[in-house]
This record gives sequence, structure tokens and C-alpha cells, in this order.
Amino acid sequence: MVTFRYLCSTCGRSYRRDEVRYLCPHCAATSKPGAPLEGVLTVQFDYGQIRRKFDRHNPDWGLFRAVEDRFLPPYPIGNTPFFRSAALGRRLGYDNLWIKNDGQNPSGSLKDRASHLVVAEACRLGEGTVVTASTGNAASALAAACAAAGRRAVIFVPAAAPRPKLAQMLCHGACVIPVKGTYDDAFRMSLEYTASKGGLNRNTAYHPLTIEGKKTAGLEIFWQNGFKTPDAIVVPVGDGVIISGVWKAFDDLRRSGLIRKVPRLIAVQASSSDAIHRYVLTGRYRDARKPDTVADSISVSVPSNAHLARSAILGSGGGSVTVTDGEIMKAQRILAACAGIFAEPAAAAAAAALPKLRESGQLEGSQQVVLLITGHGLKDIEAAMATIRIPSAVEPTRAGLEEAAERVQKGRTR
Ligand SMILES: *Cc1c(COP(=O)(O)O)cnc(C)c1O
Ligand SMILES: [Zn+2]
Repeated sequence: MVTFRYLCSTCGRSYRRDEVRYLCPHCAATSKPGAPLEGVLTVQFDYGQIRRKFDRHNPDWGLFRAVEDRFLPPYPIGNTPFFRSAALGRRLGYDNLWIKNDGQNPSGSLKDRASHLVVAEACRLGEGTVVTASTGNAASALAAACAAAGRRAVIFVPAAAPRPKLAQMLCHGACVIPVKGTYDDAFRMSLEYTASKGGLNRNTAYHPLTIEGKKTAGLEIFWQNGFKTPDAIVVPVGDGVIISGVWKAFDDLRRSGLIRKVPRLIAVQASSSDAIHRYVLTGRYRDARKPDTVADSISVSVPSNAHLARSAILGSGGGSVTVTDGEIMKAQRILAACAGIFAEPAAAAAAAALPKLRESGQLEGSQQVVLLITGHGLKDIEAAMATIRIPSAVEPTRAGLEEAAERVQKGRTR
């Protein structure tokens, strides 16, 4: 049996595991629709027990998991590569630059971590249907995890979501409802759907285990880094759940006595989708008025987890920065060409931030910096296609071969 309590991040009330399902009932009652969520719950383990039981030589990460092993769907996730890229570091101005490549999750994004855990929770509760709103990746991850676990996924996505993500959801057999509107519209509709029609809602931050699932990326960085805390982790931010999850990982480790220092967490947002960035700078929350970015996975007007994300950034001594679409697409090319990593635009945003962080002095070039690559480039092939030109075809003849050799020699191949 896993033991933990839910703690309300707004009012501090605490609840037993099955006493509440989503938000703190007190805080949710007073919160306004269309605003960042109030009363987001966080999982509090018995840290004294973890301290006694955890053994570095034979680490049992299940001690940090809020759902028992036997409910986990047969859908292995995580354990993604963590490695240093000296060439990318040289190109972006960092001597000790590392990549955590979460594009290598089974559905191609970090969202597999959250969907995996929430579907495990659905299995524990005996819920046959899991519902979500998503810009695309959370839904394709949910569709895959539900397929593996024999559950039904009901998905509300903006009609303009990238087609590869829609293809994934449909192939996994999900019920897909494209919404003529934004992600924020889809979010509201999915909440109304579960409130009136039932099923377990997986919306990001609304279900507390989304934070716990995403947390595993932070735990892995810690053990893959030889049980050491890196100086900084650069995280692309939309709703602010990944960054809160990474914070939760290091906070859990600290409370369990495994570390003293937490990494600085640097949030990266797209310049038109910058509500959390401005909240961090000014202390006052305002919606992003018209999010319009090529990085669809971080395009959000009202980030559901803005409050916890801000505390994570400030609590870690971190910072925040915005990047333009032009910078994002340039960084996509640099990541691909220097490190061999093809990342979707939202993930490339983390790399786009580095030169700015260096120039502004927010992050020194000698620090151990980890880029959290959150999604695979094939997730949004149209975005990449818009930046490249496919070379014309040559004849399959001797003349064609000479033409090919000339192009290679002159670098006319891209
Ligand atoms: C969801 C997502 C993000 C942002 O995560 P939040 O928890 O919404 O802040 C970043 N990159 C990719 C690829 C994503 O799918
Ligand atoms: Zn509360």
C-alpha cells in the first residue's frame, strides 16, 4: 500500500487519498472559471519512511510513486536518454550542456509520464473512461496508455492541433472531439463533460497525479546524473505542470534527505504565450491575450498551473525567459544539426533560450545545464517542413550521379 496525503497548494488543508479526486473542494468553490486553477493538490509522502527505506545502491523509485505497481498500464515509459552534448554546448555557449531526451517516450513526448500514472489511477478506481483536454501531446499519450490498459479515452482538442498528433490519437482508438476554438475552450469543455457525464478527468494540474507523473523526469535526471543535482534545468512551459513536476521531484528528494541543493529551474515561454513569465517578473497574474505560436504545445492563454509554476521557479532560485517563433525554429535546426536531436518546436524553445540566458547573465556558461527536450520533431512535421526546401530529384543515370556529386561538393543539398 502506498501512503500519502494530498495537500492543497492554496490553503494548506490536507486530505486522505480517496477523500478528494481533483482540486481542494474549499478552494475550487471560490475560484473563478477561466482563471488559473486554485486549490491544486500536491502529494505528500511519508518522507521519514522514504528516508529509512531508500537505498542508493538498489533504488526503489516506487517509494516516490502515488499508485501501486499492480495498477500500472503495460505501457513502459520514461528511462529516456540523458547525455552530454559538447558540440551543442559549444554552439550555444555552455561548457557542460546535457540533454534529457523525453521525445523518446513511446508516444513521442514527456506527456506519457502523466498519462501513464493517471491511467494507473483509473485502473485502481475501476474507471473505464479517461477524459482530457489537450493541445495534442497529452491526448496522444492518453490515447496510447488507455489502449494499453483497455480503457476508453475521450479527448477534446483544438481543431487546429498538428495532424500527426491527431493521427496518433485516432490510431490508438480514442474518441476524438475536435473543438472549433482554442485549447482553453477545450479545457473548459472537458471539465463540463466529466462533471455531467462521468469518467476520470486527466486535465493537466486539475488531476494531481499529472504533476506526480511528470515528476519522474526530474527523478531520472537526478539518478542518471550519478545522484547529483545539476546546476540548472531549462524547461519549456505552457500550463506550468512539467516545471512544477520537476520541482516536486527535487523537493521530494530534499525532504527524503537525499539532497540539500535543488537545481535552478528556468522557464521558457513563447513570447505570445507568456502569462507565467510575466507573473514571475511582476508578481501579478494576467492572461496571455492572444497566444499565437508555432510551438503549439506551449500555446495557452490561461495556464492552469500558473500559481505552482511561479512558486517552483522562485523557490528554486531560477528565472524565466521568452523566445520568438523565429528563435525557436532556428534552435530546432541547431539541435538537429549539432546534437542529432529532432525536437518539436515547443521542445526546441528550451535550446532557443540558452544564448539569451548567457547574454543576460542569468545562467553562467560554466554551469551544468540540462535541456529538457519534451517532444519529438515528428510530432509536428509541417512546422519543420516550412523551414526547409526539399531538393529536386536527379535522374537515375550517370549524369544524375555527376549532378549529385556536384551538389554535395558545393553544399547544394539542403
Ligand atoms: C505539454 C508540453 C510542454 C509544456 O508543459 P506544461 O506542463 O504545459 O507546462 C512543453 N513541451 C511539450 C512538447 C509539451 O507537450
Ligand atoms: Zn484549499
